[in-house]
Amino acid sequence: MEDFDNDADTIMARAHNDVPQERPCLRCRTPFWSEGFGERICRRCKGLSAWRNGVSVSPGLARRR
Ligand SMILES: [Zn+2]
Repeated sequence: MEDFDNDADTIMARAHNDVPQERPCLRCRTPFWSEGFGERICRRCKGLSAWRNGVSVSPGLARRR
């Protein structure tokens, strides 16, 4: 049964992509430890974007008096 063999191969390929491994960050291209296929951005960039969301305007101008 070659069909069964093919199927098993596909499943293994999918699982391989979903395994935690080192990947280059999509934003800064720095290799980082990715927990899974869905994680393509390093922690640093994630934290940066979250920080920017909270401030939205230039921090220097907003805090000036
Ligand atoms: Zn990054």
